[in-house]
Amino acid sequence: MTALRRALFVGAMVLLAAGRASAADIGGMHLYALTEHFTVYAEDAADYGGMVAGLEDQYRRLVAKYDLAFDKRVAVYVYRDQLSFVKKVFGWTTVEMNVAGLADPGQRRLFMTSIHDPCKPAEHMRKMPRHELTHVLLPSGMVWVREGIAMYEADMLVPVDAGALPRTIDDLKFYRSDEDTSAAYNLAGWLAKYIVEELLAGDAPRFVRFARSPTDLAAIGVTNEKALMDGWRAYLVAAATR
Ligand SMILES: [Zn+2]
Repeated sequence: MTALRRALFVGAMVLLAAGRASAADIGGMHLYALTEHFTVYAEDAADYGGMVAGLEDQYRRLVAKYDLAFDKRVAVYVYRDQLSFVKKVFGWTTVEMNVAGLADPGQRRLFMTSIHDPCKPAEHMRKMPRHELTHVLLPSGMVWVREGIAMYEADMLVPVDAGALPRTIDDLKFYRSDEDTSAAYNLAGWLAKYIVEELLAGDAPRFVRFARSPTDLAAIGVTNEKALMDGWRAYLVAAATR
């Protein structure tokens, strides 16, 4: 992806995150399901019953774990395939970047490729809706915080070598290549897990406060970024030997 395309992509994310009227095309969709916490629209006639049940589970679990006061129904728009999704949500004519879902926390909306699309491994596609929902419930203006908590809470982490850690958090390579981005998402997920489970000792509601101003590292009990990186590295080394 070129720098210009990357800038446009990040721009689209920021626009949606800000909750302004987005250009997403939701024409031609039918109402698939109306549940306690979701209104689900689909572009095709596939079965999304398991997906909707998984979203309800994730909603209840996160609201309880993070002590959230979230009582608005979330709208979910499911496109027939990845090409239809990127065309109608980003305005791309080709799949410029292997992206399968997008959250719009400001308007409590999720846009996603059909979970039956083979653009990513089946297990990833099964977990992706829960990842996107986590963005709506636990938003953050900082990319590593919001992607990290979504990877962690959607159970998408894969083993990582502590030697793969960059020197600073800013060195995580988000939105360079698909490969770099996947690696950065996974590392951010391990960092979120370390913060919630170790630094906050499972007191997840404290993470919500931290996510609002993530430059305040005192909120997670560390004095500076070097201390955070050193602790995280030691945690990964210990996790690898367990
Ligand atoms: Zn995400």
